[in-house]
Amino acid sequence: MRRVAVLAVQGAFIEHEKMLRSLGAETIELRKKSDLEQEFDGLILPGGESTVQGKLLRELGMYDILKEKIEAGLPVLATCAGLILLAQELTNDENRYFATLPVSVKRNAYGRQLGSFHCDGSMKGIGVYPMEFIRAPYIESVSPEVDVLAEVDGHIVAVKYKNQTALAFHPELSGDARVHEMFLRQIR
Ligand code: GLN
Repeated sequence: MRRVAVLAVQGAFIEHEKMLRSLGAETIELRKKSDLEQEFDGLILPGGESTVQGKLLRELGMYDILKEKIEAGLPVLATCAGLILLAQELTNDENRYFATLPVSVKRNAYGRQLGSFHCDGSMKGIGVYPMEFIRAPYIESVSPEVDVLAEVDGHIVAVKYKNQTALAFHPELSGDARVHEMFLRQIR
């Protein structure tokens, strides 16, 4: 059975766990450093507040270990704040976190007022998919080796680079499990 670790220090992690379990995967929560001693085959970086998550990762002593695992090829699915944690560049923020994904990301890119919306977008390998954006970032530019999976209104909202899949929207809130299914296939 595939065992997926979900970063559970802040944000929308429970919804990811529910979706993964409905697909037959086992989930564990990463809340503190000792949780990282368990074995797992994949990692979810959920939505939430990237500044809070980034700060907690460092304070809890989880940052270096997770960064090493991501660099070593652990399959990662990152959503929204998780995308911000992975990005090598943030265009409107001084902070950098794992910086393992060669893309440039704009935080709160749709503005504070109109920041949350729903749309049906087209996603490579999946087709039409219901996308929930919540104070979302988007991707302003990508390195040539990054695979663009989805664009909405001319902005990149989903990418894949080696073991890292990152989305600006929230597939765990869509009621449509195809993104998580795709991720679990990658783990197998
Ligand atoms: N606005 C949040 C941030 O910048 C991300 C929002 C989300 O994860 N839904 O960290």
